[in-house]
Amino acid sequence: MAEEAMVYDLAVIGGGPAGYTAALYAARAGLSAVVLEKTAPGGQMAATGIIDNYPGFDEGVEGFLLAQKMQAGAERFGAKTLYAGAAAVELAPNPKRITLDTPANAGSAGLLARTVVLATGASPRRLGLPEEAALAGRGVSYCAVCDGMFYRGKTVVVVGGGNTAADDAEYLARLCKKVFLVHRRSALRAAPARQKALETAGVEFVWNSRVTEILHEAAVTGVRLAGAEPGAERVLPCDGVFVAIGRVPDTALFAGQLPMDEAGCLLADETTRTPLPGVFAAGDVRQKPLRQIVTAAADGAAAAYFAGEYLRALH
Ligand code: NAP
Repeated sequence: MAEEAMVYDLAVIGGGPAGYTAALYAARAGLSAVVLEKTAPGGQMAATGIIDNYPGFDEGVEGFLLAQKMQAGAERFGAKTLYAGAAAVELAPNPKRITLDTPANAGSAGLLARTVVLATGASPRRLGLPEEAALAGRGVSYCAVCDGMFYRGKTVVVVGGGNTAADDAEYLARLCKKVFLVHRRSALRAAPARQKALETAGVEFVWNSRVTEILHEAAVTGVRLAGAEPGAERVLPCDGVFVAIGRVPDTALFAGQLPMDEAGCLLADETTRTPLPGVFAAGDVRQKPLRQIVTAAADGAAAAYFAGEYLRALH
């Protein structure tokens, strides 16, 4: 059957822990379920080294392995994965329509589903510098675990003051000749104990400083820093810049169709129901107090459960 002719019971946009848990619960409940994933399963989880806080793995588990297991678990019960991104969504009608962005699917009428779980997750926040986009993958990185090995024996700057920046600095300190941690305040947002551990690992802190320019020739050569005092400017030479200043939810696709908070998170309660019937928001896209793999997975389970309830009420 052609893809556009079929109407799925449940379509998930985003193959992270929320998405694959929704697909697992839906498939086990006998619903036809498809996950749209534009790159590789796992989302942010797949770019994480060892995960120690997902229950059931007493010695930790590698992020990409957990991602593969979540996908395989859902597919064991009949859920499908379609490697495509959603280019546009029409969430109000029944069935709902998702236009796919892959060349292979160009021109197709898209994918139809009676319920949709929005589980697109979040992306790294950018510094917002004009040269940043062009240097991404050429000296600027948003994932230490993914790209750290390219900077073995080199000097790098990590930007940020949260747990991600601390994790990244610690990871890179094991590979690099020198790691500077540049933060716009005089203390980390991450737990104070981490500062001591980082100092012991040889990380040098650069406090009260903002990156105002990434200097480069063919490759990155340094960063220009502005201090708290007017005129307090300096250049810090480095080979790479790891940006770890938080994440922003990937919800632009849903703008105008669903309410969001000022950070761009979708508004839905613990049932994950959005104001649009049959549309659910699960994982990091949802406004919630704790964003973890385990809370994303919990959202996915709730989304599939309440999608099933919605489908039963349709008949
Ligand atoms: P985060 O906790 O929101 O920290 C972001 C950091 O970036 C803050 O220090 C912030 O500075 C800084 N920042 C934000 N925008 C900036 C900008 N434009 N320029 C310069 N600096 C900027 O983000 P996160 O570290 O990615 O962590 C996200 C969540 O995941 C947190 O709840 C965290 O605890 C959790 N997490 C936990 C672990 C772990 O347990 N090992 C690991 C990773 C993440 P200010 O301090 O000035 O706001």
